[in-house]
Amino acid sequence: MKRKILFCFLVFILLLSFVPYTYYLSSVFAENEATRIVSAEKLHLREGPGLSYNIIDTLQKNDKLHVLKQQGDWIYVEVKDLKGWVAAWLTLEVGAKEKYAISQVDYLNIRLEPSLNSSVLGQLHTGDQVVVLSERENWVQIQYGELTGWVSSDYIIINETENVVEHIQENKNETTFEDEPETFTIVVDAVIVRNKPSLSSKELGIAKKGEQYKIIGRDHHWINIEFKGKKGWLYSFYGSFEKTQEDNQNPKKVMIIYNGTNLRQEPSTSSPVMKNAYAGEQYEIIDTEGDWYKIQLSNKEVGYVANWVVSTNDNNTSIEKKQKRKKGTLHGVTIVLDPGHGGNDQGTTGIRETLEKEVTLKTAELLKAKLQAAGAEVILTRDSDVYVGLRKRVAIAHQHAAEAFISIHYDAIEDRTISGFTTYYYHPYQQTLAQYVHEGLSNQVSIRDRGVQQGDYLVLRENKQRAILVELGYLSNPSEEKLITTELYREKATMGLYEGILNYFDAQLEE
Ligand SMILES: [Zn+2]
Repeated sequence: MKRKILFCFLVFILLLSFVPYTYYLSSVFAENEATRIVSAEKLHLREGPGLSYNIIDTLQKNDKLHVLKQQGDWIYVEVKDLKGWVAAWLTLEVGAKEKYAISQVDYLNIRLEPSLNSSVLGQLHTGDQVVVLSERENWVQIQYGELTGWVSSDYIIINETENVVEHIQENKNETTFEDEPETFTIVVDAVIVRNKPSLSSKELGIAKKGEQYKIIGRDHHWINIEFKGKKGWLYSFYGSFEKTQEDNQNPKKVMIIYNGTNLRQEPSTSSPVMKNAYAGEQYEIIDTEGDWYKIQLSNKEVGYVANWVVSTNDNNTSIEKKQKRKKGTLHGVTIVLDPGHGGNDQGTTGIRETLEKEVTLKTAELLKAKLQAAGAEVILTRDSDVYVGLRKRVAIAHQHAAEAFISIHYDAIEDRTISGFTTYYYHPYQQTLAQYVHEGLSNQVSIRDRGVQQGDYLVLRENKQRAILVELGYLSNPSEEKLITTELYREKATMGLYEGILNYFDAQLEE
């Protein structure tokens, strides 16, 4: 398989050398766009246009890339005498105006799609800065890590910056907290703490809802905290910032959400306007009168602003929380996750000696954190390297009346060239869940899609619940084993499973 890819690649290069150079250069990029720089902290140079291709080298932020061609979201570049593919969305045109969105509110939901009904992936807090990828009506697409999401444009300010390199450095300085001790309070049920600000770095453990950690520093949207005697990193979306002491005594303030907001003499829309305020401006609250805040203007004057055009620094008020949202959450849903094998039963063993029982557990733990963050009650059939019989696993599903039972496995077969992921169900009442979950997976992982199939597995056949079994790739295929045992693949696969599960339960609400 690998040889075949190499052969195709060589043929491709050979063909390219016969094509006039200017032809493929000008086909996609205008001349001034042919140089770009790396905008992410680290960026992998890969053998092909996709996350599944082998990594040639790791590039650093601001490395210069000479663009040779583009394919979808990927660009083929020359950098430091090497050629390879990089994700275009993690690069910037040199001299281009980079757009940043700055959140004006706390708990601004980041959603999978530009819709209030779409699932919530995380949250932004007041002052958080993220890179803008695109804009659509009232929504803005933002980038965080290697993932993307959408936020409502009503609650952000967009800033443009021309000098990219300087801005990035400036931004770094802004976000160090050396002399400003603050604590970070976890607001989701569980979140993974890592040893570096990267999805592919080692997991140190799990931080749980309500726990408070001292902030040591920040890097973009990552927060550096003191975690069990170590320095740990987690996404800023998963918690809230609190000044440790004095801040709680600070007067309550309103923050203006819309540009040109009217500040009036009296608490009424018919009252004369004293001035217009801009988004992001803050005023001290003196009093509340009906739907209006009496506020202190900077020049010792007082005025009124309507409460529907501002946000307050009340830590627990979220603009979206006030709206009742049925979709996009899993509150009250019980899900049993079944990491395949364990103990003496090792499952399959990869060519690189990956043990299936280990990667199934890692995958299940990561998926559990995501489902819990969305409000689900998640039970694992095993949470350590122990043997659990198949009938016991089914019994756990019955005992908890699981609304979904997801058995997680990695595949193996004698033929080392076979690759891809498969989703199995047994009973017809399990098929819809299988289809949703498979769809979610196929949106996130780039290995071969082997489809949804009926499979006679005991954990499905004997299960009265909606049970499915996913095989997340072949450990018997050497190149696939290398890919599917990475943290990045697990992150993508569990994101896919999570989205599939969420979409399945969202669709049930519609019925
Ligand atoms: Zn297995």
